[in-house]
Amino acid sequence: MKKKIACILVAIMALASLVACGGSASGETLVMATSADFPPFQYYEGDQIVGLDVDIAKAIVDKLGMELEIEDMSFDAIIPAIQAGRADFAMAAMTVTEERMTQVDFSVSYYTGRQVVIVSEDNSDINTPDDLEGMSIGVQIGTTGDILSSWEFGDENIQRFTRGMEAVQALAQGSVDAVIIDDYPAHEFVNAVSGLRILPAEWLEEDYAIAFPQGSELVDKFNAAIEELKANGTFQEIVDRHIGTGTD
Ligand code: GLN
Repeated sequence: MKKKIACILVAIMALASLVACGGSASGETLVMATSADFPPFQYYEGDQIVGLDVDIAKAIVDKLGMELEIEDMSFDAIIPAIQAGRADFAMAAMTVTEERMTQVDFSVSYYTGRQVVIVSEDNSDINTPDDLEGMSIGVQIGTTGDILSSWEFGDENIQRFTRGMEAVQALAQGSVDAVIIDDYPAHEFVNAVSGLRILPAEWLEEDYAIAFPQGSELVDKFNAAIEELKANGTFQEIVDRHIGTGTD
């Protein structure tokens, strides 16, 4: 009986929102894949997913006269979800890389990030990235921090975590010597967990962009919407709200 009522409720809800089970690749609602563990870009505030990327996505989807539905998943699940068409687009402070360009289509870049190194405040042995040689490094699985660290310091020295904060907690507990992760989230994590510091050295700048299934018609529409939001100041307002310091 309960099951039957639940089924009817689900059916009514599905009709009401015109969302088919399993997400939609067309229609009024666009499904955005993200990994809501990456402040200030996407994170939970209570049970709501908020952040810079979320506000930009909302502004774009709004411009297109559509609705937004957000699907939270681990970062390494995002590209497979896009490739399988389980989401219409992904926004997750995702860096454009050559490999990813063979798997998804990207929008124009909307923001930049850099990889930084987080270490314990009382660890005076690590002062530049070169000091990481042979150290144990925590990363978020599948991220550019993971790719870069594995390349630079050898796979055997890398410990991979599903969420960035898990890597940071492992560092705070002393089970890794350093964490390599994007700069803005790094600052948020270091503010939230005591006893950590960020090395001043930065690696190459990375371009964040929105990912789509290959051949998606949304790419041009999103690019045009991004241009408009930049031209009318909305984009900068959103950045200022989340990053505070203004221009990047
Ligand atoms: N910018 C990094 C990447 O694209 C990390 C993104 C993330 O963890 N959300 O790999």
